[in-house]
Amino acid sequence: MAVAGAGAHILVFPYPAQGHMITLLDLTHQLAIRGLTITILVTPKNLSFLDPLLSKHPSIKPLVLPFPVSPSIPAGVENVKDLPVGSFSAMMAALGELYNPMLNWFQSHPSPPVAIISDMFLGWTHRLACQLSIRRFVFCPSGALAMSVIFALWRDMRQRNDPGDDNELISFPEIPNSPVYPWWELSPVYRSFVTGGPRSEFLKDAFLGNIASWGLVINSFSELERVYLDYLKESLGHDRVWSVGPLLPPEIDRVSRGGSSSVLASEITSWLDKFDDQTVVYVCFGSLAVLTNKQMEELALGLEKSGVNFLWSSKIPTGGHVEGEYGMIPLGFQERVAGRGLVIKGWAPQVSILSHRAVGAFLTHCGWNSVLESIVAGVPMLAWPMGADQFANADILDELKVGIRVCKGANMIPDSDELARLVAKAVSNEERGERIARAKELSKAALVSTKMGGSSYKSLDGLVRHLSQDQDFLACDPKKHIIK
Ligand code: UDP
Repeated sequence: MAVAGAGAHILVFPYPAQGHMITLLDLTHQLAIRGLTITILVTPKNLSFLDPLLSKHPSIKPLVLPFPVSPSIPAGVENVKDLPVGSFSAMMAALGELYNPMLNWFQSHPSPPVAIISDMFLGWTHRLACQLSIRRFVFCPSGALAMSVIFALWRDMRQRNDPGDDNELISFPEIPNSPVYPWWELSPVYRSFVTGGPRSEFLKDAFLGNIASWGLVINSFSELERVYLDYLKESLGHDRVWSVGPLLPPEIDRVSRGGSSSVLASEITSWLDKFDDQTVVYVCFGSLAVLTNKQMEELALGLEKSGVNFLWSSKIPTGGHVEGEYGMIPLGFQERVAGRGLVIKGWAPQVSILSHRAVGAFLTHCGWNSVLESIVAGVPMLAWPMGADQFANADILDELKVGIRVCKGANMIPDSDELARLVAKAVSNEERGERIARAKELSKAALVSTKMGGSSYKSLDGLVRHLSQDQDFLACDPKKHIIK
């Protein structure tokens, strides 16, 4: 399915957090099968994440640059698996030190890339692209509503009236459906910028670089977020916005997406096989969130009281968590729920779990990948947005009527009785029908969009043609897009 005339050389640069990297690798697969020549940039410890992609596409060349020495990241924690909680801005600043090594690489390459596609957390690559007289495309692993809010924050430099009031409501009347969020629910990176600090100017320049970049490639699809995608084009002042989602790996790689499972995928499937259709609740809060022990207790109690069947993927605390205070499964819990509840400690094959016929609801933190994976599988959600873009993502679930809110905030402790009631309701015979029907409709729309002739499929073809052939693109001076 190569696009006629495609072959342009591009550089892909993922940001090293699983939720960001997984989908940019899926996008890279889509670009490779359409005929682009691709170099992909990683630091040494993340090279192994490329294995499935490189084995399928031997033509893709990895560019491995040493992790830069940076005062913002202590030695030894630069690996994605050790990404310290809450240190996104430190990691962004550290990776910014790759500017000169990348410049040198481009300048010494006999036929260097004609464009850079890099994650939204690598906004500084816009400045590099301008220096090289090439174009930079932002890859956005979040949805279009979330992105609209983030762009509005940085563009307008939104502030609180009362700098001490974390609950002050910030409204965005210019965005469709006029979203409103309390200050504490807004992007933590933006909030850290507002409070000042050594990395503030770097972050501001990087996010303004995202707004000024030549184009935006976003993991969403028009049937899901049309009004927000249209709004993004209008607010950016151009229509170089490609919605290419939902991005998923080829069928064969779904079980191992993002890492190998802590339990054999076949064992999980056999366990799920025992249950009736749509009667199991899958519980997982993404690749980063680790619950406090108090949250673990209430969640476990809620699941126990609910009487439902469940599969809980629980993350193991990393070096960034105070020892003994996080991620403990309450004593005796697993014995008490034996037969109807299974806990996986570590990485679960989420995409394959969600696609099992027995799964009828997903208790999620509303990370955008999890939301899209659930939509693709036709599984309604129980929403516990915790941070980052997750509050906006939960709004999308409300709009689409495929989510029930159960809790919000990374520090909130759910009430086990209320949780039990909502979890039971989500998979009860009487209540689940309508939500599942809506989720199945969305699933159909998602699958159609990625098949030949669908909106995202055409958008991907269009992006590849634009990169390879579009005369405006090849003739235009990217320096015009420099940050003002
Ligand atoms: N994931 C997984 N197994 C796990 C936890 C997470 O496969 O045990 C995957 C999940 O399928 C999704 C990604 O990790 O693709 C998490 O991304 P998301 O945007 O949902 O949340 P984040 O981790 O960025 O907070």
